[in-house]
Amino acid sequence: MNEFKRVLVAGGAGFIGSHFARLLIEERGCEVVVYDKLTYAGNPDNLRSIEGDSRFSFVHGDLADPVALSQAAAGCDAIVNFAAETHVDRSIVDPEAFITTDVIGTFRLLSVARELGTTRIVQVSTDEVYGSIANGAATEGWPLAPSSPYSASKASGDLVALSFHGTWGLNVSITRGSNTYGPNQYPEKLIPLFSTNALTGERLPVYGDGMQRRDWLHVRDHALGILCVLEQGGAGEVYNVGGGNERTNMEITKGILAALGLGEDLINYVEDRPGHDRRYAIDSSKLSALGWAPAVPFDEGLAQTVRWYRDNRQWWERLRDRSEFTAWQSSWYANRR
Ligand code: NAD
Repeated sequence: MNEFKRVLVAGGAGFIGSHFARLLIEERGCEVVVYDKLTYAGNPDNLRSIEGDSRFSFVHGDLADPVALSQAAAGCDAIVNFAAETHVDRSIVDPEAFITTDVIGTFRLLSVARELGTTRIVQVSTDEVYGSIANGAATEGWPLAPSSPYSASKASGDLVALSFHGTWGLNVSITRGSNTYGPNQYPEKLIPLFSTNALTGERLPVYGDGMQRRDWLHVRDHALGILCVLEQGGAGEVYNVGGGNERTNMEITKGILAALGLGEDLINYVEDRPGHDRRYAIDSSKLSALGWAPAVPFDEGLAQTVRWYRDNRQWWERLRDRSEFTAWQSSWYANRR
């Protein structure tokens, strides 16, 4: 198993990256450099519990800036890239931001790693690159069939990363995680949006018939899966990271309402988004063979997550009060009532 002394975590102020940065410090004793542009989704509050740790440092920077990135990554023996535009709905309105960060930004990060001779790189990707799966579960060799500008930009980033391995032998692995949930997720995606809407007495906008199916993975399990790939994954290899918890969006919606003791009258069916994939499902046996397994039972994880949003209003109220959030919500949902 590879051990690392100093790791650059790009996008480490976001949801999954901040959990991963904490894991590296607290459970591996690594030095961690978080490199993050602090977009609307980047949040220094996510790093509060480690910001005073001598092993932690933060660099405010964009993947698009190879000089700043190279300075931050110098002396790191590994880079894990979480930095991305991540919200499918926003990719429908502004696809260019996704191409800029998720494709060109990934290319810049890989180029910096190559120039510095960084020993190990993990590119964090998504199960959405396989597109909608009618039956069965995608293995890593499944054809890529992304439907949204988000998933297309992530699939492109994966291919660029694999080309750096194929052409220059870069020691890069790719993880493709499923829908992730847990504390500290910006309140625009399904579980944090619906939890915080319910807590503020607002209705829960369910797309279409609510029967879209996703495989849900707790953020700690996702972070541990990426750590397993960092330490044990093969160069040029791809690893699915799935929770094995397939649920419809409607089941999630009802689960959130039940956890808060609220009635289903808060459900509001709205027009579906274009290109909405019906089902994602991945087979994670390749990663399981390295010793990883998801540990958080879904019903417990969901109830615990909803309680976290109930008990940490100061974390999300500030985000929901910002004009960035209110303008996005009203413009996006105004057309789908
Ligand atoms: P997030 O939106 O919460 O955080 C993204 C972070 O990247 C933010 O801190 C943001 O400031 C930073 N960032 C964005 N553009 C940047 C740039 N140009 N330069 C530097 N930093 C930049 O995202 P997340 O949900 O934590 O997802 C992290 C990664 O995991 C992404 O690559 C995403 O595609 C992947 N992923 C997410 C999920 C999920 O369900 N959330 C599932 C599978 C894979």
